[in-house]
Amino acid sequence: MYKIPMLDLREEYRTLKTEIDEAVGRVLESGVFIGGPEVSVCEKELASFLGTKHAVSLNSGTDALVIALRSLGIGPDDEVITSSFSFFATAEAISLLGAKPIFVDIQAQTFNIDPQEIEKKITKRTKAILPVHLFGLPSNLTIISSLTKEYNLSLIEDCAQSFGSMFEHRMTGTIGDFGAYSFFPSKNLGCYGDGGLLATNSDTLAAQARKLATHGSKVKYYNEEIGYNSRLDSLQAAILRVKLKYTEKNIKSRQAIAHKYNVAFANVNGIVTPKFQDGHTYNQYTIRVKNRDGLKADLDNAGIASAIYYPIPLHKQPPYVSYGFQLKEAETAAAEALSLPICPFMKPEDQESVIACIKQSLLKKTKT
Ligand SMILES: *Cc1c(COP(=O)(O)O)cnc(C)c1O
Repeated sequence: MYKIPMLDLREEYRTLKTEIDEAVGRVLESGVFIGGPEVSVCEKELASFLGTKHAVSLNSGTDALVIALRSLGIGPDDEVITSSFSFFATAEAISLLGAKPIFVDIQAQTFNIDPQEIEKKITKRTKAILPVHLFGLPSNLTIISSLTKEYNLSLIEDCAQSFGSMFEHRMTGTIGDFGAYSFFPSKNLGCYGDGGLLATNSDTLAAQARKLATHGSKVKYYNEEIGYNSRLDSLQAAILRVKLKYTEKNIKSRQAIAHKYNVAFANVNGIVTPKFQDGHTYNQYTIRVKNRDGLKADLDNAGIASAIYYPIPLHKQPPYVSYGFQLKEAETAAAEALSLPICPFMKPEDQESVIACIKQSLLKKTKT
């Protein structure tokens, strides 16, 4: 157990205990654990927060990606262009439908898909572009959506790490055909288990996603196609409704902590701080350092958590090695990226300790 964890969800629960306990109690008393008013009201509140016409709640972020792709008709022999530097689920969802992920390298300074590299990967088989707003930093949706229009492709935004992030005054996830969100506990808005969401402005796509998520049926026991059992539990919906009220405040707090790190590291040799961009929500605060593993060991020894997102880029994961992609920036990022504790409830003195430990570690490295 680290003295300073990446994210302390116990601290959040302590703060919200009265409201969370009330919400959980309300669901337990109601006897309705699947669907019901908690889920439908939660969906309305989420749609209103995001500013989309529809919000379809689901079992996980992974399901959100799978159901988005399938609702758009993507299947065997299709190609979907995506980033090589993400959590595995991004590519896995594409492969689960029999389609092929076509990996594109990232921009060194954003960790996001390099928009200039996309066009050369478009073929006759390409059906969609699936950018990931990694760590809470929006991808360049201006370039990406002009490509999807020009080539008549679908656009699915992987917003698992970008709930509340803004791209040029619009919420991420509201610009493409679908925004796919995860409520895994460590995300910007997390529940107390698994949960996910699809946001869309299209009536047809929302209806199709909802149908797929309920065994391919619009009317119970009339199953029109093979679907999934993908539901957000009523308990999780009630918990999310409480936590949603604090999301904006928590995001502001993440941004303030990130800013403090940026200032502290501004003159430190050997650290590359994350790209500053308005609307970045810092689901992770990820630096780059050459001797990443050395720094991580020093933090470990000081009782400070840190995390490597991600040690292996997607194109180097065993199921994709045979595709033969070589993507230099993603490979370098996998060797240099280190995410530091960032938690809306982080104590200032804890952040000071993280900063001091990092400065000391890098100083030691330059001396020897
Ligand atoms: C967390 C995450 C997912 C998957 O979400 P789950 O709810 O865990 O299924 C997908 N993509 C990215 C980028 C993620 O970080």
